[in-house]
Amino acid sequence: MTDVLNQCGQVWLTASPLQRVGAFALAALAKVSHPDRLGVDAFTAAVDMMTRHLLATADVAKAADAGGFWLGASYMLWPNSKINPTARGKQSPGQRRELIAEWRALPESATWPDVPCAYCDRPACKWFGKVDIPLGASAEHRNTTAPGHEGTPLCYPCVASLWAFPYGASLSGGRVAAIHSWDDAFLAPVTRLAVKRTLAKAQAPAVRTKAQPSWYARELAVLEAVRSYDQRIRAGVELIVLSNSNKEQLLRVQEMEQPVAEWLRSTTTRSDRRAGYRVLVAAQASKSASGEAFLAKRAFEDPAAVLHRTTAYLLGRFSAKGAVSAEVSGLAPLTYSYCIEVLMMDEKDVARLKGLAVRLAALLGQDSRPGPFGGFMRANAKGGDLYGWFRTQSVQWLLKTRPAGMSRILLPVEDYRLLFDDERAWSHRRLLVFAVMEALVEAGWQPMGSAEELEDVSEAAESFAVEEGN
Ligand SMILES: [Zn+2]
Repeated sequence: MTDVLNQCGQVWLTASPLQRVGAFALAALAKVSHPDRLGVDAFTAAVDMMTRHLLATADVAKAADAGGFWLGASYMLWPNSKINPTARGKQSPGQRRELIAEWRALPESATWPDVPCAYCDRPACKWFGKVDIPLGASAEHRNTTAPGHEGTPLCYPCVASLWAFPYGASLSGGRVAAIHSWDDAFLAPVTRLAVKRTLAKAQAPAVRTKAQPSWYARELAVLEAVRSYDQRIRAGVELIVLSNSNKEQLLRVQEMEQPVAEWLRSTTTRSDRRAGYRVLVAAQASKSASGEAFLAKRAFEDPAAVLHRTTAYLLGRFSAKGAVSAEVSGLAPLTYSYCIEVLMMDEKDVARLKGLAVRLAALLGQDSRPGPFGGFMRANAKGGDLYGWFRTQSVQWLLKTRPAGMSRILLPVEDYRLLFDDERAWSHRRLLVFAVMEALVEAGWQPMGSAEELEDVSEAAESFAVEEGN
């Protein structure tokens, strides 16, 4: 075996995310830091370890029995393979072991098909099909299937990487879920941790629970991986969820883009952002999902919704307490950095909106009546006439309510463009609402009025919040 392996060299990292996760999983099984460091001995030891795990299932009657972890997983990972044939019940443990060992052995070099590996171009050792290549791992590659041949030619290091892939993933709820990134430095520790967890799970007694995993648990696992990483993240982070089973073929790939991944990481590394993180998380919660899980989901699918939810949460708090929540101050470093680093707002635009917010806070907070604030909320809500509101207020501002030293123009043309004539107008308006609340808190504004007036403003804030929560 050594000679042949020396011929094909080492485990390479290819353009296949599944093979890459598997390569790092092999490295973790061999206790080396990178696939590059897998010498022939370490590689062989890692492959042997995986084979031993499968051989151990030969004495197990059913997947749910102790030691049946890989048998149970095999229906989802390797359907119709040598570990789980239809006739398995009639086979002796010895027969089962023989078949498994044959499946995982390196084919004699005389039988190699004389075609290049579809992943790495080195000599393939065999044609492989669905049994060994999880759904999605083959589709992303050029089709090298020659006429008359079924399957994909792979070299031994590449197919062994695919066998190792589930070790570097999380197996639960009938799915394999793996975290992948083109940033190798990030992928290495993430995969190492996954391997450690999979090995522990395979050892643990089988859990007979049909409980649904909690909402967005897989997205949350990515968020946790990103936030606990101690270096800069240099590429997007993908969540790959798949099932190779006969009952259900599934492949779903979602990407958390690099800016949002790196920003999430900054909420642990930067003290000014760390402080407000818990409030940001609380702001994302819904009846069905925890705040952190929902934050994770939005980081993948709809980063702008994080800002919208945060504003809605603060308005909801206004509605409940009849005052702007002081939490807005703690959220400020998170909100502004999120707008600039994730939503890619221009720093100058953010500064303009903050300047406008200071003027609006001066206008709305000039006395303790809550009504003007409510009017601003209503103008911002769906169906509200924000432009009309600005027209009325601009006249007021020019003629009487302007504090000394402030610009005579309430809404300069540049600010107008940001709110009414920009593809990010909706997000700019949310940021403005946030910044106005922040400026009101900073100015120490305490709304006072009749119960009726406060009720009225609370309703305006509530309607805005509910809308944003959708
Ligand atoms: Zn290969």
